[in-house]
Amino acid sequence: MAAKPRFDALAAGERTFAKSARRLVGHVPTIALTPVADGRRGAYESNVEKTWRMTEKVYDLIARSVSLPDGTPVRVVVAPEIVYGPRTGAIAQQYYTEQGVSVNIFLSRSWAYSDELMSACQGIGSTEWQQCAYGLNQTDRPGAVWLKAFTAAMDEKGRPIFCVYSPDLEDESGLLSPFVAERLLRFARCAVAVAEMRGKNYLSVGSVSMGIIGSDVRRNAMLHYLGMGTVSYDMVGLQGRMARGLYDHEELAKAVKFLKQFKLDFGKGKRPLPKDKLVVECCKMALIVRDLMIGNPRLADPAVGRKQGFKADLEHAQGANAIAAGTQGQRQWTDLYPNFDVAESLLNSSFDWNGFRAPYIVATENDSKNGAGMLIASLLTGGMAQLFADIRTNWTPESIHAATGIDVGDIVPRGIIDKRNSGAGALDYAIDVLGLVKGGADRHPAEAWNAIRRSKALQKKLMAGAIEGTTYMGAELTYFPGDGLSSHYRTPGGIPMTAYRYNMVGGEMTCSVVEGETVELPKKVANHISNVTDKTWPETYWTPRGMTSYEYMSRIGPNHDANSFGLIGADLITLNAMLRIPVDMHNVPTDQLFRPTMWDRYGQNDFLVCQKLGPVYG
Ligand code: MN
Repeated sequence: MAAKPRFDALAAGERTFAKSARRLVGHVPTIALTPVADGRRGAYESNVEKTWRMTEKVYDLIARSVSLPDGTPVRVVVAPEIVYGPRTGAIAQQYYTEQGVSVNIFLSRSWAYSDELMSACQGIGSTEWQQCAYGLNQTDRPGAVWLKAFTAAMDEKGRPIFCVYSPDLEDESGLLSPFVAERLLRFARCAVAVAEMRGKNYLSVGSVSMGIIGSDVRRNAMLHYLGMGTVSYDMVGLQGRMARGLYDHEELAKAVKFLKQFKLDFGKGKRPLPKDKLVVECCKMALIVRDLMIGNPRLADPAVGRKQGFKADLEHAQGANAIAAGTQGQRQWTDLYPNFDVAESLLNSSFDWNGFRAPYIVATENDSKNGAGMLIASLLTGGMAQLFADIRTNWTPESIHAATGIDVGDIVPRGIIDKRNSGAGALDYAIDVLGLVKGGADRHPAEAWNAIRRSKALQKKLMAGAIEGTTYMGAELTYFPGDGLSSHYRTPGGIPMTAYRYNMVGGEMTCSVVEGETVELPKKVANHISNVTDKTWPETYWTPRGMTSYEYMSRIGPNHDANSFGLIGADLITLNAMLRIPVDMHNVPTDQLFRPTMWDRYGQNDFLVCQKLGPVYG
C-alpha cells in the first residue's frame, strides 16, 4: 500500500512553485514493446533468442531517433518477459500501467496465440492507446500468420491497429529493413505526438479576431479530438501585467538587446510611439505571453519582486501549462497598442534572446484550429518551427505576366500561392533550414532537425542566417493604428514544404494536407507582389505538387493555413487516423498511406471509419 501522505505537514504548509523537469508539466510519452511468441515447449525455446534480438532492434531504432521538441528522448519500455499466454500478458499490463504507457508495439517472428494473450496486456482504458503490430516476413516461423490473426481480432474488437509487414523477405542477421524501419518510426513519431499533447492546454489570449471562425476556440473539439484542455485569458490581463510590471525586468533588458541586433525599419512619418518604447513594449508582450503559457517562477519570488518593483504572486506565476496558444490582437488590442508580431514571430521561432530552444506554438488572430495543426506538425518533426500563413493570393502565370510582363510559365506552370501572414512568421522561414544539414531535403524532417538539435554549430548558423534575413518593420498603421514591428523576410525557393489545416464542419473536425515546395520568383516579380500586397509582412511563395494553385485556393477551407518545411503529408495522415480525424483533401501518394487495418475493412473510406469510431477522447 502507498504510504499515507503527511497531512499535518501538508495542512500547515505554504504553497511553492513546484519545479518541473521540462518546460511543461507532464509524463514523458512512453512506448511499450511487447514481444510475443508461441509458448509451447520447444517452439518457445527455438524462438526466444531471435525474438529478443528483434525487439532490441526496434528498441534501438526508436530510442535513437524519436525525441520531443526539447530534445528529451521518448521513453521506451519492454515487457518483462515474452508474452505467450494470458498470465504473461497480465504481467506486461501491470508493468505498463506502472510505467504510464500509452503506445504499444506488439512484435513477433513466429506464430503466437493472438486474441487471448493480447487481451490481457491491452488492459482497461486501452481505447486511448495507439497500437501497432510488426510481424516478421520469414519462412521458418512466419510472424505474418500471427500478424493477420491478431489484426483481424483487433478489427473485430473495433480497436484500430497499425500493421507493419515487410514486402520482401527479411534477413534477421542485419538491421531492420528500411521499409519496416520507416513504418515503425512513423508510427512512433505520430503516437508520441498524440501522447505529448494529451492533457496539456491551448491558451486563448483574447477571443475572436475580426469574426474569423478559426479563432472561435471549440473547447469540446479540442478535448474530444486532441485530448487537450482550453484556458481563456482576457487581453486586459496582459495590459495589466504590462502596466504593473509583472514580468522579469532583467530578462526584458536581454530581449530588448536581442531585438536591437535585427535590421529595424520603423517606417516613415509620425508614429504612435517613440522607437525605443515600441521595441520595449513589443518585447514585454513576448515575455508575458510566454509566461502565461508556461509559467515563470521568478514572478513568484518576493525577492525578485521587491528588487524589480512588482508584487510577486504564486498563482500569477503558474502559467496555463499550455503547449500551444493564440493571440487575438486585432482589433481591440491593435487599435490601441502595438501588435503581436514580435511576440508571435519570436515565440514561434526555434530561438530567442535565450538562444536555441524548442518553439512555442502561437497562432495569429487566435486561430486555434490553425494552432492545432502547428502544434501537431511541430511535434511530428521533433520540434521544427511552423509557419502560420494568410492564404493571401493565388497568382497564375497569366496574372503574373499581365502584372509584370514576365513569363514564369517554366518556373511555376501551376501557379503560386502568396503565403503572407499579416506581420508575424517564425524566423526559421527566412532561410532554408533543411539546407543546413547535408542531404537535409531528402531526409525525414525530424531526422534533419535532430541533426540541428545535436549541433551547436548548425544552431549558430540557423540563428545568424534567420536574423540576417529578417527586417522588423514598423506596422502598416491603417491596419494597426497602435503600431508594432512586423517580421519581414522572403523564404528561399526550392524547399519542400507541406501545407495543412484543421477545419470544423459542424461538430466534426477534418484536416487538409497538401505537399509542395517554396518558389524563388524572379526578383522583379517577387518585389511586385510584395509591393502591391504589404511589403512589411513575411513572404513565402509556394506551389502545390500535382495540382494548380487555383485548385488549392478553391479547396482549402479558410483564410489561414500553416506550413512545415519538409514533406510530412504521410505523417499527418497517419496521425489523423490515430485521432480519428478524416483528411478531406491530400496529395500524398497512395503507397505512402499508413493507417490502421480497420481502414481496409471499411474500404479505405476515411470518413466512414472515423465516423464509426468517433473522436479518440470523445
Ligand atoms: Mn490573418
